[in-house]
Amino acid sequence: MKAFYAQEQKRHDPKGFLSSGAPQPNPEQPERVERLLIGARDAGCSVVRPRDHGLGPIAAVHTPEYLDFLEHIYARWQRIAEASDEVIPNIHPLARDGRYPASAVGQAGYHMADTACPISGETWESVRWSAWSAVDAADAVLAGDRAAYALCRPPGHHAFADVAGGFCFLNNSAVAAQRFLSNASRVVILDIDLHHGNGTQGIFYQRSDVLTVSIHADPVRFYPFFWGHADERGEGPGLGYNLNLPLERKSGDADFLAALDVAFRRIRAYAPDALVVALGLDAFEGDPFGGLSVSTSGFARMGAAIAGLGLPTAIVHEGGYLCDALSDNLTSFLTGFGATGKL
Ligand SMILES: [Zn+2]
Repeated sequence: MKAFYAQEQKRHDPKGFLSSGAPQPNPEQPERVERLLIGARDAGCSVVRPRDHGLGPIAAVHTPEYLDFLEHIYARWQRIAEASDEVIPNIHPLARDGRYPASAVGQAGYHMADTACPISGETWESVRWSAWSAVDAADAVLAGDRAAYALCRPPGHHAFADVAGGFCFLNNSAVAAQRFLSNASRVVILDIDLHHGNGTQGIFYQRSDVLTVSIHADPVRFYPFFWGHADERGEGPGLGYNLNLPLERKSGDADFLAALDVAFRRIRAYAPDALVVALGLDAFEGDPFGGLSVSTSGFARMGAAIAGLGLPTAIVHEGGYLCDALSDNLTSFLTGFGATGKL
């Protein structure tokens, strides 16, 4: 299996964020890339540099004003007297029906959901290459590969069409799904990250051409809090095309695999042409976020089960943070996925 990754994706190096109001080191560290590269290579992947696809496939998912903001906000921020080095918001609109602000501070609040995605001088370059890795994974599958892996870092599933959040800027899984639609009429995004894929849900909430399914720790007491509940089913033409399967905190392999079975019934009924797996490894029992209790071998069983759908698949990396087993968990998932012989 090809693994797409460009070294520019490591340059984004966020320093901090607020957790329960307290300044903490930002866990979305460049070192994640080194661990994930080891994991991908140990699973037999060949690492391939993605192409520069320009903004076209990214603008198919994100708004022009948001992309303009991401490209230019760091330079604008540096002109503010006594501003922080990284762009971090401190005021947000309560709803999105107010005026679009002209000021850098106002726009930061408009386009950033929380403090977890500081923007530095390297962020714009890193997030574009991360998205292009997702584009090339989809293109490899469109060209005939049964599956491809995109080592997307920075991750993407908390990013809405015009909002960054939760370490995410560009929604790589959504970009891959949209790319698939160039030669498919129905695509599924199956999100198995610890956290609900709220940005992905938001992007496709009123559409039926992308079925969004997310299995995650119950947001009633967990990030992203405001989304991810079981009664969120889509709106308008998208009604019935969003499925949330929240799990109780500390749920383990058996509960996760049971939720996957529920997801598979919905996915098979949808009869999709292609699948995007939004692969977070932070459901791991030893992940610093500590929300669920999936084991390393559990990821292999999840990979094998998902491969059993027999769909052309782009595996797009999301979360999973620094811990001793991060490499092994990726190897486990990818090996399990390939072990069915369907690759
Ligand atoms: Zn996560």
